[in-house]
Amino acid sequence: MHQANQAEIIRTNLAVFEQQLADHCRQIGRQRNEITLVAVSKLQPIEAIMAAYEAGQRDFGENYVQELTDKHSQLPTDIRWHLIGHLQTNKVKYIAGFVHLIHSLDSLRLLAEIDKQAKKCGRIIDCLIQIHISTDSTKTGATPEEGLAILQAAQQTPNVNIKGLMGVASLTESEAKVATEFAHLAALQQQWQAAINPEPALSILSIGMSGDYPIALKHGATLIRVGTGIFGARK
Ligand SMILES: *Cc1c(COP(=O)(O)O)cnc(C)c1O
Repeated sequence: MHQANQAEIIRTNLAVFEQQLADHCRQIGRQRNEITLVAVSKLQPIEAIMAAYEAGQRDFGENYVQELTDKHSQLPTDIRWHLIGHLQTNKVKYIAGFVHLIHSLDSLRLLAEIDKQAKKCGRIIDCLIQIHISTDSTKTGATPEEGLAILQAAQQTPNVNIKGLMGVASLTESEAKVATEFAHLAALQQQWQAAINPEPALSILSIGMSGDYPIALKHGATLIRVGTGIFGARK
C-alpha cells in the first residue's frame, strides 16, 4: 500500500513536471525535444526509480559512485546513467563500463584516468566539463582557464568525447544572480565552440535543477537535472 502510493505520487509529479516544462518551453519559444530531462535519483530507493522508469523516464542522475554501481546492477539495462557528482580518479574504473555521461570532469588528471579506463572497456565515454560558476565555496568544478586546458587536452584522448559544459548555480533567492551565472557558462560554450578545431560539438549545456531550471532554459540549457521536482524531498 505504502509503495503503491509512492509510485503513484512519483508518476503524478513527473506528469506535472512535464506539463510545467512544456509551458516554460512554449513561453520562451523553445522545443521540448531539445531538452533532456535527467531525473536525479540520489538517495532515492530502487522502487522510486522504477516508478519513474515505468512512466517512461530513462535518464537518471546519481552523485555517488557506490550508489550508482549498486543501482545499475539492480535496474533495467536500458537506463542511461549520468554521473553528476564529484568523481574521484580512483573510482572511475567502477563506472567506466556503463556510464552514459559524466557531467563532472573538472581536472586533467581525471581526464587522463577516464580515457585510460574507457580504453580498457573498449568504449568512448561522453563527458561534460564542469565549470565552477557559483560563488558558493562548497561547489566543485574547474575554473574557466582549467576548463579550456581540459578541452584542449581532450583533443589527444581518443576514448573521451567532450560533449559540452555543466554548471551548478549559487544557492540564492536572487534570480538575477543565477541568470548571470548561467549566461556566463553559455558564453563560454559559444566561445569554446568557436575556438576548437577540429570541431567536437559542445552541444550539451547541463544547467538547471528543480529550483532554477526555468532560468536555465532561458539561457540555453539542453539538459536539466531534476531531483526533488520529480521524487519529492530527499531523506
Ligand atoms: C542533487 C543535484 C541535483 C538535483 O537537485 P534538485 O534540487 O533536487 O532538483 C542536480 N544537480 C546536481 C549536481 C545535484 O547534486
